[in-house]
Amino acid sequence: MRALVFDGKALDYRDDHPDPQPPAGEAVVRPLVAGICATDLEICRGYMGFSGVLGHEFVGVVESVADTRDEAAAELVGQRVVGTINCVCGVCDMCTRGLREHCRSRTVLGIDGRDGCFADRFTLPVENLIPVPDAVDNDHAVFTEPLAAACQILRQLRIEGTPYVTVLGDGRLGLLVAQVMARLNASVRVIGKHPHKLELCTKWSIKHRRLDQVMSRNDQDIVIDCTGSSEGLKIAMDMVRPRGRIVLKTTVADPAGIDLAPLVVNEVEVIGSRCGPFGEALALLAGGEVDVLSLITRRTRIDKSVQAMHNAARSDDIKTLIEFD
Ligand SMILES: [Zn+2]
Ligand SMILES: [Zn+2]
Repeated sequence: MRALVFDGKALDYRDDHPDPQPPAGEAVVRPLVAGICATDLEICRGYMGFSGVLGHEFVGVVESVADTRDEAAAELVGQRVVGTINCVCGVCDMCTRGLREHCRSRTVLGIDGRDGCFADRFTLPVENLIPVPDAVDNDHAVFTEPLAAACQILRQLRIEGTPYVTVLGDGRLGLLVAQVMARLNASVRVIGKHPHKLELCTKWSIKHRRLDQVMSRNDQDIVIDCTGSSEGLKIAMDMVRPRGRIVLKTTVADPAGIDLAPLVVNEVEVIGSRCGPFGEALALLAGGEVDVLSLITRRTRIDKSVQAMHNAARSDDIKTLIEFD
């Protein structure tokens, strides 16, 4: 089968990659559309020390399940699905506490210990698969995973009064987070570096500014770092008010060399935020409440995916989709 593999050093497109065999409890999924995410690009720079098939954002069709005697699983065959990316043991202290995303022995699709979705076929546990309503087409459904990550912030923050919220970063995730936050009773602004990306905020009636045009005055109640850069935390510390909150979405966060004293002096609460609720994301997509189509900058086929990854690293890219037909 066709697959985009990162071998630990370089990207390699293969058309003779072996088909996956689903272990007990898992299904084989054939992706219809997949999305390139900043995490995929970071992995190619060594993040997580991953090697294998890349990719974790997809909408696909269930081709088969390992155990056909499991009726609930067998019913999924032929269905269009999205899938949560953390594959868990179900018995460790985190799993039994309901913190399954934090399973001590988890694997993560295309990120940690498990081949990803940039291939003609991949496997996921049946319990990770969620059928996609007919109202959500493939181009929308492929945004479920990153939109869920944006929705996770709402689970972690208490919103009181009408807070001033700054979303740092005008990339793939920042523009989703901005739209999710703008639905709240909050004054939201996006700070970025790319005029053509910030321009999308105008369309959505969300305030925006270029980074070099803002004064950092320690006056924001909440700052959400979606920069994907270790710079983000430093900028966030300059913007957040005393006793305010910083939400970190950046997965390259490398605080080396950053003076963390302002967090102590200003008693700032820092919240790490990762994967989120797929149900809420699918509901937003089904209701047309978030504009994801404007984020699609490129479409490519799996056999052109090496070039697509290079293009996705360019500053004009927002979301590159990979198609399989
Ligand atoms: Zn991602
Ligand atoms: Zn576990």
